[in-house]
Amino acid sequence: MIKLTENKFDTQRLHAGYDPKEHLNSPLPPIYQTAAFALGDTDEAEKVAEGSKEGFTYSRVANPTVRAFENRIAALDGGIDAVAVGSGMAAVSYALLSVAEGGGRIIAPTNLYGASIDAFQSIFPKFGIHVDFVDDINDFEAVKAAIKTDTKAVFVESVANPSTDIADIEQLATIAHQAGIPLIVDNTFPTPYLLRPFDFGADIDVYSSTKAINGHGNVVSGIIVDHGKFDWHNGRFPQFTENEFTLETEAGKPVILVARWCGGLYFPGSD
Ligand SMILES: *Cc1c(COP(=O)(O)O)cnc(C)c1O
Repeated sequence: MIKLTENKFDTQRLHAGYDPKEHLNSPLPPIYQTAAFALGDTDEAEKVAEGSKEGFTYSRVANPTVRAFENRIAALDGGIDAVAVGSGMAAVSYALLSVAEGGGRIIAPTNLYGASIDAFQSIFPKFGIHVDFVDDINDFEAVKAAIKTDTKAVFVESVANPSTDIADIEQLATIAHQAGIPLIVDNTFPTPYLLRPFDFGADIDVYSSTKAINGHGNVVSGIIVDHGKFDWHNGRFPQFTENEFTLETEAGKPVILVARWCGGLYFPGSD
């Protein structure tokens, strides 16, 4: 995988996270339109399943086309990795349902994208997640006062859609980190071309890649990017540090599937 972090944005935009040599020298990422991948033989399958060898098994877990997209956006955004999902609302929901898994509170402004407001008001409570709204997210005293022991994240839009209000990411990240919680930023509106929230301390970025990142208006999609800096081991987020379940191969070797921060599953060593 080519990270090309030393290159300029326009070069990364075309090349980051994709190596033509791994794809029959195709300069553009081919569309791998397949659900599953042939693993050759059982020895090979075992290596991929236990994570000692990189490989694709099933497109819900990972797919080379989607992987190129994830790698590229992670590079452009300055994150360590990314997970692509089916829409921007899926990205918002995955990120927040994962951090507040099992119940908890999220702090968010009232001037969000309408579908996010709808989800926070009418769907999240059904999963035991309560959103504490603040009218002005840059009223730092109000944000501090809203933080409770079961608050799991501060969620903002860097540039709100449609009000274009701008969140002070640096101050909000400091306040969130003092409380041991992450700052999750919906950076759909500016895209990493105009603003990289990680440069100002954000922990997770979410995007509707239906919008400006896509640029073509021909696909609905979303992506979640991890800055890789937040300490998920601080006791508030056991879901990210506990093993969900363990499978064993016939030879009795454990194949551990662990919870990934986005709520998906991965085979250790696959990335
Ligand atoms: C459009 C949008 C979303 C939702 O994205 P979809 O791809 O339509 O699900 C979320 N946040 C912001 C800021 C948006 O503009």
